[in-house]
Amino acid sequence: MTITLEVPCTVTLEIGTNGTVTVEDIKVTGNASFVREKDTVLTYTIIPDSGYEIYSVLYNGENVTAFVSGGTYTAPALTGNATLTVLFASSSHVHEWEDDYTVDKEPTCTKEGSKSIHCKGCDEVKNVTPISAKGHTFGEWETVTSPTCTDSGSEKRVCSVCGFTETRNVDPTGHEWEDDFTVDKAATCTADGSKSIHCKHCDAVKDSTVIPALGHAWDSGVVIEQATATESWQIKYTCTRCGEVKYVTSPPTSSPKTGDESHMALWIGLMCVSGAALAALLLTGRKRKTN
Ligand SMILES: [Zn+2]
Ligand SMILES: [Zn+2]
Ligand SMILES: [Zn+2]
Ligand SMILES: [Zn+2]
Repeated sequence: MTITLEVPCTVTLEIGTNGTVTVEDIKVTGNASFVREKDTVLTYTIIPDSGYEIYSVLYNGENVTAFVSGGTYTAPALTGNATLTVLFASSSHVHEWEDDYTVDKEPTCTKEGSKSIHCKGCDEVKNVTPISAKGHTFGEWETVTSPTCTDSGSEKRVCSVCGFTETRNVDPTGHEWEDDFTVDKAATCTADGSKSIHCKHCDAVKDSTVIPALGHAWDSGVVIEQATATESWQIKYTCTRCGEVKYVTSPPTSSPKTGDESHMALWIGLMCVSGAALAALLLTGRKRKTN
């Protein structure tokens, strides 16, 4: 009976700079090694960096570059330890530039972008140029707080692209004065009143002015003590506005002090009566003389 020990094979990768090799979905750069069973078939995908190309592929020291097809090399089934050596070289590629710029980074409202001329055959770019920020695209100003006569208001506008909100103050409107005075406190017979110009929109006033007291509006008076030759006149006057009462006393020989015509008439009437009596007396005296 023969026992055969399966001896695993060590695979060593030596990957030069400027490229990578992928095997069994594992990406390898530089040197690496792993173990696989005998007879395993491994396929290597060789990827040069931009601007580089595969220079040589050696398998166990043998140049197998010519067997690389589409960047892929499939090694013979493992029979023992193996070494794959890959070298990259600068590409002989001559860039063929596009005519127009390609935008590599779109500008935003506030950040600049960039554009460049791309190579048609590789990832190389040239003439990298910034693109100015676009600035916000604001809508109309909208009122947030209305201003008053004396207080500032505020308003805002919103960028329709990024939602940035800008706010600003709105100056107070200032008072708008009425043309005519408003009586704030009516004058009475004895107390001054006041008037002022009012603001049409708030409680502010200006040009506050005194309205002088009106003085009483006396009525025509009522005689409450009839005059005789020896008694004084006494007349009661009443204010038609506030009801205040005053009494005026006049000496017996004078007329009642009033501007009212009825009292004047009364007084004149009395004077006439007195005059008539005096005339009669004089006439009697003359008669006596003649007699
Ligand atoms: Zn190129
Ligand atoms: Zn914006
Ligand atoms: Zn006002
Ligand atoms: Zn009065």
